[in-house]
Amino acid sequence: MNNSYDCIVLGLGGVGSAAVAHLALGGRRVLGIDRYCPPHSYGSSHGQTRIIRKAYFEHSDYVPLLKRAYELWRQLETECGDKLYFATGLLQAGPADGEVLSGVRRSASEHDLPIENMTMAQASLRFPGLVGEPTWQAILEPDAGYLKVEACVTAHLQSARQSGAQLLMNQPVVNWHAKLNQVSVATANQTYFANSLIIAAGPWAAQCLNRYRFPLHILRKHLYWYP
Ligand SMILES: Cc1cc2nc3c(=O)[nH]c(=O)nc-3n(C[C@H](O)[C@H](O)[C@H](O)COP(=O)(O)OP(=O)(O)OC[C@H]3O[C@@H](n4cnc5c(N)ncnc54)[C@H](O)[C@@H]3O)c2cc1C
Repeated sequence: MNNSYDCIVLGLGGVGSAAVAHLALGGRRVLGIDRYCPPHSYGSSHGQTRIIRKAYFEHSDYVPLLKRAYELWRQLETECGDKLYFATGLLQAGPADGEVLSGVRRSASEHDLPIENMTMAQASLRFPGLVGEPTWQAILEPDAGYLKVEACVTAHLQSARQSGAQLLMNQPVVNWHAKLNQVSVATANQTYFANSLIIAAGPWAAQCLNRYRFPLHILRKHLYWYP
């Protein structure tokens, strides 16, 4: 294996697997390295599902990126022959002028996204069992849904391989250095070189970037799926 690449991607979870696939698809010589064999249960991209939605309350500037993401998930489904995205709709409820509902309305109105506004009483009638403060409101975003997160990682890695990417599994990166036009990335066995490095280490980012002393505080979060 030649040790020189256009780009090395450190970490092949949800973020790194997409990066390595799209770089390879774009004709780049790319190497992806992971300390485990994704999808695995130690990182952030573990479990059955992740929500995807367009009407981001966080900021309306995300919406064009999300529209593009929907297109790319559809393309990936066609490529891998697996269903990855399920449009279930997403109901968000809370104070009418709270950050979430106000932000959803702003994104939807600026980008012409379909949403349905309802009172809490209407929402409880339509979705029995849903309980909230009587003064709350609710918004249904019909285009929102979920992605099968581990299948997404698998599909991106498969796509990357098919486009010629080299993938190293079960090989922790132990060190990396960046010079003006070259990075070197070392595992226990070998050192690799590239023009650029993408660090997509998820919860290990604090370790991989410790020389910069970013104030990263890693938290464990739990998810449950009910049958
Ligand atoms: C509980 C929970 C719920 C979430 N819900 C949603 C949601 O509904 N919708 C949504 O969009 N997002 C959601 N997210 C966020 C989303 O899941 C994460 O943003 C995403 O999975 C992050 O992927 P990642 O590739 O950055 O990290 P990871 O999946 O953790 O991947 C990092 C990879 O780097 C590898 N690695 C680390 N260090 C090294 C090293 N030294 N050498 C080689 N490899 C290394 C690891 O093995 C791992 O495979 C949620 C996250 C959590 C935790």
